[in-house]
Amino acid sequence: MRYAETGFNLEIDLSRGNIERVETDPSLTKLHLGGLGTNAKILWDRVPPEVGPFSPDNLLIFGTGLLCCTPAPSANRTIVTTISPQTLLMAYSMMGGFFGPELKKAGYDKIVIRGKSPRLVYLWINNDQVEIRDASHLQGKGGNETAELLRQELREPEAQIAAIGLAGENRVYTASIEQGKSSASRQGVGAVMGDKGLKAIVVRGTKDVNIARPAEFMEMCNEVLSFMKHRLQNPLKLPDGMPIILGYLGIQEMALDDEEWHTTNFAWGNARHRRKDFWTKETEERWKETQEKVVTRLIGCYNCPIRCGGSVSYPGLRTYMMKCYSKLTYTMAAMSDLDFGFRIAQRATEYGVDGFSTPQIIAFALELYEAGILTDQDMPGMPCDSEGRFFWLLDMIVRREGIGDVLANGTHWAAQQIGKGAEAYAHNNIKKHEQLPLKLGMLNPIYFLMYCTGEKINITQIEGQFPQAPHTSREAREEFVKDWIQVPHERFKEYFVNWEPGTFPHNPPPEAVCDIVDWQEAMHYIDDATGLCAASSSFILKPPYHIHNLPRIISSATGMDIDEAGLWEITRRNRTLVRAINVRRGLRRKDEKPPEDHWKKRFPELEAKLLDEYYKFKGWNSQGIPTKEFLQGLGLNYVSEDLVKRGILTDSEGNQAVAGKEEQ
Ligand code: SF4
Repeated sequence: MRYAETGFNLEIDLSRGNIERVETDPSLTKLHLGGLGTNAKILWDRVPPEVGPFSPDNLLIFGTGLLCCTPAPSANRTIVTTISPQTLLMAYSMMGGFFGPELKKAGYDKIVIRGKSPRLVYLWINNDQVEIRDASHLQGKGGNETAELLRQELREPEAQIAAIGLAGENRVYTASIEQGKSSASRQGVGAVMGDKGLKAIVVRGTKDVNIARPAEFMEMCNEVLSFMKHRLQNPLKLPDGMPIILGYLGIQEMALDDEEWHTTNFAWGNARHRRKDFWTKETEERWKETQEKVVTRLIGCYNCPIRCGGSVSYPGLRTYMMKCYSKLTYTMAAMSDLDFGFRIAQRATEYGVDGFSTPQIIAFALELYEAGILTDQDMPGMPCDSEGRFFWLLDMIVRREGIGDVLANGTHWAAQQIGKGAEAYAHNNIKKHEQLPLKLGMLNPIYFLMYCTGEKINITQIEGQFPQAPHTSREAREEFVKDWIQVPHERFKEYFVNWEPGTFPHNPPPEAVCDIVDWQEAMHYIDDATGLCAASSSFILKPPYHIHNLPRIISSATGMDIDEAGLWEITRRNRTLVRAINVRRGLRRKDEKPPEDHWKKRFPELEAKLLDEYYKFKGWNSQGIPTKEFLQGLGLNYVSEDLVKRGILTDSEGNQAVAGKEEQ
């Protein structure tokens, strides 16, 4: 019997209309757990670097985390993996909500989709019965609208649905996959779904998931739940920091109406400057009123007590769910009001576009227009006011009309195509992908490494366990570490206690920086393999899940013999495999850069040293390529053999990249 996982994947070939239920190899669970780990293994084995994002041979994998659908609180993530049209590297985007648990209840750990359908279709998974059905009547429909129509059509109000909107159908590079409470938004996974001609996946499941040692597992889950409830009622009391992570367990953006920190400390938009004068008493009252009027209730994902999402309703518009920064991305990119942000996010959600990248693409277009690089001829009929322009450009992008067809490929590719100096305006990218728009002062060495080297290409998927800045006094720092049980080792407490304010970028020292980044990253890789939500785990300070209780939680759920060292090794294997996929697709040291003007004060020598130290720390060579010895130590011999065969590692030791060794 398989525990925690179902032991079966669904293999769908859309070119042939073929559906197969395939038993999976349990030894892969031991090596990679599930979710991102086993997704990466499939992608390595079956998608060679010659395959582009819109090739029928590209796979689109919906992989549930190993603990997804078990009673583990907030274990509900589905990891969507493919090759990104924007970065041309491996994309993995997480969605919460209820889809993953429903898929497990239907009897599958993953859906692996290949090929392309000649016409628009949807997939209907009803326990053992799986069908590919015509979706021509859903063409052009919004993500939430599609879900509503399918629930009615199938008479299945309980079905869970992941769908694309018009943006996905039109292969907009920032297209998302929407599923109500949550979405898989980053790196254009929705564009790949649209390219495959797949409008939606509908799932209904009524089976159970087996647990190996139920009494022990439930005891562990109850401990986590009690901790969560305690923290919800007794927020961390920190002397300084961001409001959203100070008071609560998760990211409570929809419950929070004091946005001073965000609106005055972030440089939203693209090249726009922060506005210290933005937040006034009057703004605060107006925004509070808007939020109280339109956010009708707070909602959570499957088996999570945190409820960090909000149901947003406007008369005449379809209700939608919002969480976290999407509340502010359009608002601040347009330098407008919260009411505008909520209204345009409704349209954007139906279209199915990423709420981080898309407002920046629009702001980028407007900056090019203001600079005279784009002209009235490029923008025929564009309204004069900022809000009107945002709506107009959103429509143009999603429909791929006129200049929208160029902008739909994201700021990097659009700038290349537009030329005339447009590249200078596309500077908030890492590896061609738009980042959270921040303009800060002094280089932060921890964030420098996370920005440069994170394979998710999104800072929120690496950061979280270590405070972003030191508390002002040593006493406050000593107080903070007193109950810091989550640290893997006591030395992390020392890093924090000895971290004096104003000592960036040389303190913490590079070896400590690597250690901190490695820990933060490891926790995210555990979440991404198990399906735990990062907002109750790796993304927050002092979370209920940590390296000391996770081995027992995983072990009692799955029956696998696993301890801290073993879990750390699996995490390292998964992280290395993801890196190897990207290395095989051309990723090198020269690509590992933070957004160009993220920090005003940069230190090129220190930055090079940090990268050197980090690569060494990880067991990679000077190009960021895992060495043969390191790969073999993780049992990834097949990876080292392939990298040698392709000339990426040398045949002898495999410790040197063949080309561009000294490239910076
Ligand atoms: S913390 Fe929020 S996003 Fe995470 S599982 Fe809970 S409700 Fe969902």
